[in-house]
Amino acid sequence: MSADGITYLLWHDLVGVTRTRGVPTRDLQKRMANGLGWARAGQALTAFTDIVDNPWGPMDEVRQVPDPAAKFTIPGSGDEPDLHAVICDSKVDEQTPWDCCGRSFLRAALDDLKAEAGVTIFASFEHEFLLTGPDFRPATPFSMTAARQQNRFLTDLEAALTATGVTTYTIEPEYGVGQYEVACAPETGVRAADACLIARETIREIARRHGLSASFTPKPAADAVGNGAHIHLSLVNASGENQTYDANGPMNLSPVAAHFCAGVLAHIEALLAFTAPAPVSYFRLGPHHWSAGFRAIGLQNREASLRITPGLGAEESRRKGHNIEYRPCDGIASPYLALAVIVRAGLEGIRRKLACPPGITVDPAEMADAEREAAGVKALPTSLGESLEALLSDDVARGWFSKDLLDTYVALKRWEINQASEIGAGQTFARYLTAY
Ligand code: GLU
Ligand code: MG
Repeated sequence: MSADGITYLLWHDLVGVTRTRGVPTRDLQKRMANGLGWARAGQALTAFTDIVDNPWGPMDEVRQVPDPAAKFTIPGSGDEPDLHAVICDSKVDEQTPWDCCGRSFLRAALDDLKAEAGVTIFASFEHEFLLTGPDFRPATPFSMTAARQQNRFLTDLEAALTATGVTTYTIEPEYGVGQYEVACAPETGVRAADACLIARETIREIARRHGLSASFTPKPAADAVGNGAHIHLSLVNASGENQTYDANGPMNLSPVAAHFCAGVLAHIEALLAFTAPAPVSYFRLGPHHWSAGFRAIGLQNREASLRITPGLGAEESRRKGHNIEYRPCDGIASPYLALAVIVRAGLEGIRRKLACPPGITVDPAEMADAEREAAGVKALPTSLGESLEALLSDDVARGWFSKDLLDTYVALKRWEINQASEIGAGQTFARYLTAY
């Protein structure tokens, strides 16, 4: 066995799957400049065993080029070897990112946000997931029994995440049967999406070592509790200072943050095609699931799409902690695409100085139709088909993507809609549970 093992080159594709090719670690250094080749048509793979129609032929290739700043290792344990990995950018040549690379697409959105508004994002994901396994017996939600039963897994997981460089905030049993949650510390810019990828793969890997399977599917069955991937996000300046807070603003939002939120809400139906990207995602969304059923914003409102989360304590610490929680996102979403479209929509709000709708202080499902109308509150799409239609009829949102990226993404999502209608709900739940 080679002493230094394998390093896996990783990239996250359009359907939220981390794909990989490996090299012996002893060869990594010479692979850093040009990476490994990969057929462009691979970007048309579904998360199952199929590939959709795409514009690329058998000779079209990109380079998967490792980013030296995005290396990580999940340490081995027992007879499990270390798992070394490095996240890549897809490039058409040394300088030029591929217009279908999610990571480069996020970087470009962040470059525009910085150039036009002088800020970047400081963001983190909450990872809700479901444990299953032959010996797994779910315990009472939130209980010490549920924690104790998985204490070995949870403790190993925390250590592994720390070793990869991802900081965990909280680790706990959640409300669903067999559901657990890990919340991670925010990171700046593209690193926020990298940390999400690393956390998901580390959770899957440590679960596997414990004879468990961790799934991020948004809904394992129609009547089960959903798994969300809420995104906490603040806008920070070049010195890392939070620009989201203003003591006198609505919900303590600064003008730039209020415009950002207004932009996100203005395009949210189109955004859902990326943040709630599977047919099963729409069984999770909806009123009374604490996932988000309405286009709405509210201070601490867990039924709103944007929940403003205040910082705690004295003024300075409140300023530091103030953030925007985007709730209609799940674990099938590519964190790169999800953050990119949120940033693009937020930037539109900043450019057009859009006014932020009023904060909702009640459950939006309990409001009368006329009240909702007056407050700009609207039910979110109830199917992936509706979100795709919203994306395709949103001229501004369509302009964020290259033709190849948009066409391939829409083809993939239409394929998923067809698959779901062919195989029916029961099998669809089962397939997403296994694939994610
Ligand atoms: N499981 C809920 C969801 O699907 C979130 C519950 C919570 O607020 O943590 O988004
Ligand atoms: Mg939760």
